[in-house]
Amino acid sequence: MQLLGKANKEMLEGDAPPMTPNIALDQMAKHSIDWWITSEDLPDPNNRVTLKNGNIQLSYTDNNTEAYERLLKRWTEVLKSIDCGDKIIPCSIYLKKKIPLEGVAHQVGTCRFGSDPKTNVLDLNCKTHDLDNLYIVDGSFFPSSAAVNPSLTIIANALRVGEHLIELITK
Ligand SMILES: Cc1cc2nc3c(=O)[nH]c(=O)nc-3n(C[C@H](O)[C@H](O)[C@H](O)COP(=O)(O)OP(=O)(O)OC[C@H]3O[C@@H](n4cnc5c(N)ncnc54)[C@H](O)[C@@H]3O)c2cc1C
Repeated sequence: MQLLGKANKEMLEGDAPPMTPNIALDQMAKHSIDWWITSEDLPDPNNRVTLKNGNIQLSYTDNNTEAYERLLKRWTEVLKSIDCGDKIIPCSIYLKKKIPLEGVAHQVGTCRFGSDPKTNVLDLNCKTHDLDNLYIVDGSFFPSSAAVNPSLTIIANALRVGEHLIELITK
Protein backbone atom coordinates (compact mmCIF):
# COMPACT_ATOMS: atom_id res chain seq x y z
CA MET A 1 0.00 0.00 0.00
CA GLN A 2 1.35 3.43 -0.78
CA LEU A 3 0.05 6.95 -1.21
CA LEU A 4 -0.26 8.09 -4.80
CA GLY A 5 0.51 11.80 -5.14
CA LYS A 6 -2.81 13.49 -5.83
CA ALA A 7 -5.56 12.80 -8.36
CA ASN A 8 -7.11 15.83 -10.10
CA LYS A 9 -10.40 16.29 -11.93
CA GLU A 10 -8.80 15.65 -15.33
CA MET A 11 -7.63 12.23 -14.11
CA LEU A 12 -11.07 11.33 -12.75
CA GLU A 13 -12.77 12.51 -15.96
CA GLY A 14 -11.52 9.51 -17.95
CA ASP A 15 -13.34 7.02 -15.69
CA ALA A 16 -16.45 9.08 -14.83
CA PRO A 17 -19.84 8.42 -16.48
CA PRO A 18 -20.52 10.79 -19.44
CA MET A 19 -21.93 14.22 -18.50
CA THR A 20 -20.57 14.09 -14.93
CA PRO A 21 -20.33 17.78 -13.93
CA ASN A 22 -16.79 19.09 -13.76
CA ILE A 23 -17.44 20.67 -10.38
CA ALA A 24 -18.36 17.27 -8.89
CA LEU A 25 -15.12 15.75 -10.20
CA ASP A 26 -13.16 18.72 -8.92
CA GLN A 27 -14.65 18.39 -5.41
CA MET A 28 -14.09 14.61 -5.40
CA ALA A 29 -10.45 15.10 -6.39
CA LYS A 30 -9.91 17.80 -3.75
CA HIS A 31 -11.49 15.73 -0.96
CA SER A 32 -9.99 12.36 -1.79
CA ILE A 33 -6.93 10.48 -0.55
CA ASP A 34 -5.41 8.36 -3.30
CA TRP A 35 -3.82 4.98 -2.64
CA TRP A 36 -1.81 2.62 -4.82
CA ILE A 37 -2.06 -1.12 -4.18
CA THR A 38 0.52 -3.49 -5.65
CA SER A 39 -0.64 -7.08 -5.63
CA GLU A 40 0.96 -10.16 -7.13
CA ASP A 41 0.30 -12.10 -10.31
CA LEU A 42 1.46 -15.67 -9.79
CA PRO A 43 3.69 -17.22 -12.47
CA ASP A 44 1.75 -18.40 -15.52
CA PRO A 45 3.64 -19.55 -18.62
CA ASN A 46 0.82 -18.17 -20.79
CA ASN A 47 1.52 -14.65 -19.50
CA ARG A 48 4.47 -13.84 -21.72
CA VAL A 49 6.11 -11.51 -24.19
CA THR A 50 6.34 -12.73 -27.79
CA LEU A 51 7.09 -11.32 -31.22
CA LYS A 52 4.18 -11.50 -33.67
CA ASN A 53 4.79 -10.31 -37.23
CA GLY A 54 7.70 -8.25 -35.95
CA ASN A 55 5.59 -6.58 -33.22
CA ILE A 56 5.99 -7.03 -29.47
CA GLN A 57 2.97 -8.88 -28.12
CA LEU A 58 2.04 -9.03 -24.43
CA SER A 59 -0.21 -11.91 -23.42
CA TYR A 60 -1.73 -11.43 -20.00
CA THR A 61 -4.61 -12.80 -17.95
CA ASP A 62 -4.73 -11.70 -14.33
CA ASN A 63 -4.72 -14.31 -11.56
CA ASN A 64 -4.50 -14.45 -7.78
CA THR A 65 -7.45 -12.04 -7.78
CA GLU A 66 -8.86 -13.38 -4.51
CA ALA A 67 -5.75 -12.14 -2.64
CA TYR A 68 -6.09 -8.76 -4.38
CA GLU A 69 -9.78 -8.46 -3.44
CA ARG A 70 -8.99 -9.44 0.18
CA LEU A 71 -6.25 -6.81 0.40
CA LEU A 72 -8.58 -4.17 -1.02
CA LYS A 73 -11.35 -5.11 1.43
CA ARG A 74 -8.92 -5.11 4.37
CA TRP A 75 -7.56 -1.69 3.45
CA THR A 76 -11.07 -0.26 3.13
CA GLU A 77 -11.88 -1.65 6.59
CA VAL A 78 -8.70 -0.07 8.03
CA LEU A 79 -9.62 3.33 6.56
CA LYS A 80 -13.16 3.07 7.89
CA SER A 81 -11.91 2.04 11.34
CA ILE A 82 -9.87 5.25 11.67
CA ASP A 83 -12.77 7.39 10.45
CA CYS A 84 -10.91 8.25 7.27
CA GLY A 85 -13.76 10.06 5.57
CA ASP A 86 -15.97 13.11 5.72
CA LYS A 87 -16.81 13.86 9.36
CA ILE A 88 -19.58 16.46 8.78
CA ILE A 89 -21.69 14.68 6.17
CA PRO A 90 -21.17 10.90 6.19
CA CYS A 91 -20.56 10.49 2.45
CA SER A 92 -17.31 8.55 2.21
CA ILE A 93 -17.04 6.34 -0.85
CA TYR A 94 -14.26 4.00 -1.89
CA LEU A 95 -13.65 3.93 -5.64
CA LYS A 96 -11.21 1.48 -7.21
CA LYS A 97 -9.56 1.08 -10.59
CA LYS A 98 -7.15 -1.54 -11.90
CA ILE A 99 -4.36 -0.31 -14.15
CA PRO A 100 -4.97 -1.81 -17.60
CA LEU A 101 -2.38 -3.72 -19.63
CA GLU A 102 -1.32 -0.49 -21.35
CA GLY A 103 0.06 0.60 -17.97
CA VAL A 104 2.20 -2.49 -17.48
CA ALA A 105 5.31 -1.61 -15.47
CA HIS A 106 6.47 -4.55 -13.36
CA GLN A 107 6.92 -7.31 -15.91
CA VAL A 108 9.28 -9.91 -14.43
CA GLY A 109 10.05 -13.61 -14.62
CA THR A 110 10.79 -14.05 -18.34
CA CYS A 111 14.20 -15.68 -17.48
CA ARG A 112 13.50 -16.76 -13.94
CA PHE A 113 16.20 -18.25 -11.73
CA GLY A 114 16.15 -21.56 -9.86
CA SER A 115 17.91 -24.85 -9.54
CA ASP A 116 15.93 -26.85 -12.10
CA PRO A 117 17.03 -26.32 -15.75
CA LYS A 118 13.72 -27.80 -16.89
CA THR A 119 11.71 -24.97 -15.38
CA ASN A 120 14.26 -22.12 -14.96
CA VAL A 121 16.43 -20.32 -17.50
CA LEU A 122 19.02 -19.19 -14.92
CA ASP A 123 20.77 -20.95 -12.06
CA LEU A 124 20.90 -19.39 -8.57
CA ASN A 125 23.88 -17.20 -9.59
CA CYS A 126 21.84 -15.89 -12.54
CA LYS A 127 24.03 -17.75 -15.04
CA THR A 128 22.12 -19.39 -17.87
CA HIS A 129 21.89 -23.14 -17.30
CA ASP A 130 22.79 -23.78 -20.94
CA LEU A 131 25.73 -21.39 -21.44
CA ASP A 132 28.82 -20.90 -19.28
CA ASN A 133 29.48 -17.25 -19.99
CA LEU A 134 26.05 -15.60 -19.98
CA TYR A 135 24.57 -13.98 -16.87
CA ILE A 136 21.27 -12.08 -16.73
CA VAL A 137 20.66 -9.62 -13.91
CA ASP A 138 17.62 -7.58 -14.91
CA GLY A 139 14.03 -7.97 -13.68
CA SER A 140 13.59 -11.17 -15.66
CA PHE A 141 15.31 -13.29 -12.96
CA PHE A 142 12.35 -13.01 -10.53
CA PRO A 143 10.58 -16.34 -10.04
CA SER A 144 7.41 -14.42 -9.14
CA SER A 145 6.49 -10.75 -8.92
CA ALA A 146 6.49 -10.46 -5.08
CA ALA A 147 3.85 -7.70 -4.92
CA VAL A 148 6.39 -4.91 -4.38
CA ASN A 149 8.15 -2.32 -6.51
CA PRO A 150 10.95 -4.38 -8.07
CA SER A 151 13.85 -1.94 -8.63
CA LEU A 152 15.59 -2.32 -5.27
CA THR A 153 15.53 -6.12 -5.57
CA ILE A 154 16.87 -5.92 -9.14
CA ILE A 155 19.72 -3.67 -7.96
CA ALA A 156 20.50 -5.82 -4.90
CA ASN A 157 20.60 -8.95 -7.05
CA ALA A 158 22.89 -7.29 -9.61
CA LEU A 159 25.31 -6.40 -6.78
CA ARG A 160 25.10 -9.97 -5.44
CA VAL A 161 25.87 -11.48 -8.84
CA GLY A 162 28.63 -8.89 -9.42
CA GLU A 163 30.35 -9.98 -6.21
CA HIS A 164 30.02 -13.61 -7.28
CA LEU A 165 31.68 -12.81 -10.64
CA ILE A 166 34.56 -10.96 -8.92
CA GLU A 167 35.06 -14.03 -6.72
CA LEU A 168 35.14 -16.28 -9.79
CA ILE A 169 37.68 -14.06 -11.57
CA THR A 170 39.97 -13.61 -8.56
CA LYS A 171 39.97 -17.31 -7.58
C1 LIG B 1 5.98 4.07 -15.41
C2 LIG B 1 6.78 3.15 -14.53
C3 LIG B 1 6.91 3.43 -13.18
C4 LIG B 1 7.65 2.58 -12.37
N1 LIG B 1 7.79 2.90 -11.04
C5 LIG B 1 8.57 2.13 -10.26
C6 LIG B 1 8.79 2.49 -8.90
O1 LIG B 1 8.30 3.50 -8.40
N2 LIG B 1 9.59 1.68 -8.15
C7 LIG B 1 10.15 0.54 -8.66
O2 LIG B 1 10.86 -0.17 -7.93
N3 LIG B 1 9.94 0.18 -9.94
C8 LIG B 1 9.17 0.95 -10.76
N4 LIG B 1 8.97 0.59 -12.06
C9 LIG B 1 9.53 -0.68 -12.54
C10 LIG B 1 11.03 -0.55 -12.82
O3 LIG B 1 11.28 0.64 -13.55
C11 LIG B 1 11.46 -1.77 -13.64
O4 LIG B 1 11.03 -2.96 -12.99
C12 LIG B 1 12.97 -1.80 -13.73
O5 LIG B 1 13.48 -0.61 -14.32
C13 LIG B 1 13.37 -2.96 -14.61
O6 LIG B 1 14.78 -3.00 -14.61
P1 LIG B 1 15.54 -3.83 -15.69
O7 LIG B 1 16.99 -3.63 -15.41
O8 LIG B 1 14.98 -5.23 -15.71
O9 LIG B 1 15.13 -3.22 -17.10
P2 LIG B 1 15.21 -1.72 -17.63
O10 LIG B 1 15.31 -0.74 -16.50
O11 LIG B 1 14.06 -1.61 -18.60
O12 LIG B 1 16.60 -1.70 -18.39
C14 LIG B 1 16.75 -2.28 -19.67
C15 LIG B 1 17.77 -1.42 -20.39
O13 LIG B 1 18.18 -2.11 -21.57
C16 LIG B 1 18.25 -1.18 -22.62
N5 LIG B 1 18.11 -1.94 -23.88
C17 LIG B 1 17.02 -2.51 -24.41
N6 LIG B 1 17.32 -3.12 -25.56
C18 LIG B 1 18.63 -2.96 -25.76
C19 LIG B 1 19.54 -3.37 -26.78
N7 LIG B 1 19.16 -4.10 -27.82
N8 LIG B 1 20.83 -3.01 -26.65
C20 LIG B 1 21.26 -2.29 -25.59
N9 LIG B 1 20.45 -1.87 -24.59
C21 LIG B 1 19.16 -2.20 -24.69
C22 LIG B 1 17.10 -0.22 -22.35
O14 LIG B 1 17.31 1.00 -23.01
C23 LIG B 1 17.19 -0.09 -20.84
O15 LIG B 1 18.08 0.93 -20.42
C24 LIG B 1 8.25 1.42 -12.90
C25 LIG B 1 8.13 1.15 -14.27
C26 LIG B 1 7.40 2.00 -15.07
C27 LIG B 1 7.29 1.69 -16.56
